[in-house]
Amino acid sequence: MSCAQCGLDSPLTELFVRRRKSFSGTAVLLCPQCDRRRKDASAILAMWLVAIALVLLLITWATDDRSVLRSWALAENWALFVLLQILCLVPHEMAHAAAGWLMGFRVGRITFGRGRCLVSRRIGGVIVEVRRLLVVGAVYGTTDNMRAWRWRKIVFVGAGPLANLLLLLVAIVAAGPWPAILQADVTREVTPWLDLAAANLALLLSAMIGRAIATAYGTGTSDGRKLFQLFFKPLPTVEKRRSEHFQTLAHWNIQHTPSRQDIELIRQAAIDFPNDEPLLAMAATVQLTARDYAGGRQGLLALLRDHPKNDAFRAMTANNLAWADLMLDDPQLLDEADAASTEAYTLTPWVAAIQSTRGLLLVERGRLDEATLLLRKSLRGADNKGSRASIHCSLALAHLRRGDLRLAEASLSRARQLDRDCEVLPKLERRMRTRATVTAAVHAEAVGQSGRRWGAGSEG
Ligand SMILES: [Zn+2]
Ligand SMILES: [Zn+2]
Repeated sequence: MSCAQCGLDSPLTELFVRRRKSFSGTAVLLCPQCDRRRKDASAILAMWLVAIALVLLLITWATDDRSVLRSWALAENWALFVLLQILCLVPHEMAHAAAGWLMGFRVGRITFGRGRCLVSRRIGGVIVEVRRLLVVGAVYGTTDNMRAWRWRKIVFVGAGPLANLLLLLVAIVAAGPWPAILQADVTREVTPWLDLAAANLALLLSAMIGRAIATAYGTGTSDGRKLFQLFFKPLPTVEKRRSEHFQTLAHWNIQHTPSRQDIELIRQAAIDFPNDEPLLAMAATVQLTARDYAGGRQGLLALLRDHPKNDAFRAMTANNLAWADLMLDDPQLLDEADAASTEAYTLTPWVAAIQSTRGLLLVERGRLDEATLLLRKSLRGADNKGSRASIHCSLALAHLRRGDLRLAEASLSRARQLDRDCEVLPKLERRMRTRATVTAAVHAEAVGQSGRRWGAGSEG
C-alpha cells in the first residue's frame, strides 16, 4: 500500500487513512503523516484569518475614523469573534487544570495549539506548551488513586466546557436586555459582548459535539464524548486505568528531563505489570531518555522477542532499539541497529523519529547522501526542539564525515541553540575532537583506514 500524496509505502494497510478529494470526490489513501498535514492546512488557513483579523483591528483602531469603523464593523466583529475563540481556550484549559488539581489528579501537561512547538516550559512541575496552530488546547492529568475515580474524572473533564458556558452567560447578561440583543446590527456597530458570547458558544459546541479532535499528541477524544463515556459506558478495569496512569507519567518523562521519582515509579510499574507491552515499551523509552541506553536496550530486545506481530508498536520498539544502539556508540551493535532501523522504516516510513534514527544510522554506515536526504525530511516532521536538535547533530556528523568542517560547525551550533542537553551532542563532540587531533597530528590517512576497518567510522 502506498500513500497517494507522498508515495511512501508500508505493509500496514490499516494505518492508512481514506480521504475524499474535495473537488473530484474520489477517495484516496493517505499515510498518517500526509493526513496530518492535510488537517494542519485548514488550521494554518484559520491562523492566517486570525492574522488578517488582527491587521483589520489595528487599522480601524489606529485610524479612529468613525466612518471607517462603521463600514468595517462586520469585519471587526468577525475578527473579535475569531480572536476571542483563541483567547477563551485559556479559561477552558485553566478550568480543566484547576478542577483536575482539586480532584486530586496530577496535572502534568497543558498544551495550547498543535503542530510545531514554540514554547515549552516546566512551571511548578507542569509542562506548559504553546504550539504554532492555536486551534485546540488540552490538559493532561492522571491519578493512581482509584477512589470515586469516575466522579472525579467527570468534574475534571466537565470543568472546561462549564467555563465556556459561564462566560457565555456573563456575555449575554452584559450585552444588555433581550430587545437590545435582538436589535443589534453587527454590520453597523461593534458588539464585543455578543462576539464574546458567540466565541464561547462555538467553543462549547465544538467541545461537546465533536467526537475526535486532532491534538499535538495524536487524535484525542472531545470533552463531550469523554463525558458520554464516563456517564454511560462501563469503566475500564482498575488494572487498565493504573497501567494508563503510569504510561501517562512515562510520556511526560520522555519529553522532558525525567525526574528521579518518576523514573523509580515507572521502573516499579514495569515490574508490577510484567505483561503490559505498552507500559513496558514506555518504561524502556524512559530509560533511554534518562540516558540508560544499556538498560533500555535490554527491555526493548525482550519486547521485540515477545511481540512478533508486524505493527506500529513493533516499528516504534525496533526504532528505539536502533536508537539505543546508536547512542551506545559501540561498532559491534551497528548491525543490530541497522536491522532494527530497517524494520522500523519498512513498517512506518512516515514517522519523523524513525526517519531520523535511520538517517543517523546511514551516516554511521557512510551512506551520506541518502542520510542527508532522510534527515532533512525528518526535520520537516519533527515538531519539538529536542528532536530537531538531534537531527542537526546527525547532519553535523554527516558533514564531518564528508570533511566539511564549516558545515559541521554550523549544524552543531544550530543543535546547541535548540537544545543544550541534546543526547547526540556528546557523540558529535567526541568525533569533532578526534577530527581536530587528527588534523593537528597530520595522521588523517592512518585513522581513515582504521575507521573503515571497524565500519562505524570516525572520519577519514
Ligand atoms: Zn504520505
Ligand atoms: Zn476541554
